[in-house]
Amino acid sequence: MKCPHCGEDRSRVIDTRTTGDGIRRRRMCEVCSKRFTTYEHVAASLIILKSDGRREPYDRQKLMHGVLTACAKRPIPQAAIEDMVDSIEDELSGMGRAEVKSSVVGTTVLEHLKRLDPMAYIRFAMVYLQLSDLQALQEHISRMLTPA
Ligand SMILES: [Zn+2]
Repeated sequence: MKCPHCGEDRSRVIDTRTTGDGIRRRRMCEVCSKRFTTYEHVAASLIILKSDGRREPYDRQKLMHGVLTACAKRPIPQAAIEDMVDSIEDELSGMGRAEVKSSVVGTTVLEHLKRLDPMAYIRFAMVYLQLSDLQALQEHISRMLTPA
């Protein structure tokens, strides 16, 4: 949990409250002593069921990393990306299941990215759908551009 003031990641929780859709934590940075607030959505308790059958706890940082990589150098404000990840989490937790398949997470991210930025969408799709060559990419894009 990086401090928004100095960027260090040593902070301690000074207050925790449950809100309607998650957990709100008040933190104090151990380096610069400034205070900040973090929110954990209900998605924080989801279990992701991977394609090889392994289970792992949902990790917002990991999802965020994938999304940020796809959005690199695109003219997208950080706040829009945060909002999108929030909506993705809301959608996942709204499914009302304790476990969500990783393929469902991937598809949900793709749907949101498609609306946010087509280039970021394509970057994410290349990694996620393992489009390994230009032809596969081309086919995917023409399917995407063809109205269903
Ligand atoms: Zn700090």
